[in-house]
Amino acid sequence: MNEILIKDLECFGYHGVLEEEKRLGQKFIVSVSLKLDFIKAIEHDLCQDTVDYGAVSQCIVDEVANTNFNLIESLADHLAKEILIRFALVEHVTVEIKKPWAPLKVHLDTVSVRVERGWHSSYIGVGSNMGDSKSIIEDAFQRITSLAYNKDVLLTNLITTKPYGYKEQNDFVNGAISLKTLLYPKELLHFLQAIELDLKRRREIHWGPRTIDLDILLYDNIVLQDEELIIPHPEMCKRDFVLKPLCELNPNIVHPLYHKRVCDLYQELQTSNTYEKTVE
Ligand code: AMP
Repeated sequence: MNEILIKDLECFGYHGVLEEEKRLGQKFIVSVSLKLDFIKAIEHDLCQDTVDYGAVSQCIVDEVANTNFNLIESLADHLAKEILIRFALVEHVTVEIKKPWAPLKVHLDTVSVRVERGWHSSYIGVGSNMGDSKSIIEDAFQRITSLAYNKDVLLTNLITTKPYGYKEQNDFVNGAISLKTLLYPKELLHFLQAIELDLKRRREIHWGPRTIDLDILLYDNIVLQDEELIIPHPEMCKRDFVLKPLCELNPNIVHPLYHKRVCDLYQELQTSNTYEKTVE
């Protein structure tokens, strides 16, 4: 990955917790590192294959002037997201904001914060077995697509599957979604949980009980486990209704713990003697 650096861009804005800061405004010094691939630009010596750092600088100056945040942490995060959304070639961004006139009772040079954001590749398992499952899944997909912090969102064909585990329930409709997201894993989880809650609630009022499950299957190559979130999803390799849609998206996705492609994991599952078949 190549890098473009913008150092000590002088901006003016009205950010801060104190009333005086909001009213009088002050200077903010912004430095940015943009990670992108500009090999093509080098090859052809054309600016269309790289990022216009003048336009990025203007975007920063305008955003600092036209937004209002209490915290420079929030301002830095906002700038990072704006840059990633507006300049499609940028894969990763670090924003540092210095506040040289921070109203403090001690003497110091500057106070600064640094924030990092980037586009991450994630896969989500989708399932529903109550109500009009296909349109519920379609609705969830639209909500994921319409968030500005997501892009390149794709939904697989939806398949009807037999219930896994507890058998005394309706057949399921399953699929998978691939996307690029700016959200950190926990933010993505909370975003998906809000969709689940909203769809369930809304449907309960109008159409009787409905349900949807949105599980984070993979997020880049990260391996993460705490009381709230486990990635890769611990059950994904036992479930044909997860592996089959993943293979449709990309059979060559490599599971970061088993170091095997999802197409090989699917084949292994089908030949294992504990296989619980749900997909025709
Ligand atoms: P379920 O609705 O049965 O899929 O379970 C949701 C619960 O699993 C929530 O409390 C989540 O915090 C937790 N969880 C752990 N790992 C994941 C994951 N990778 N994706 C979604 N939920 C997860």
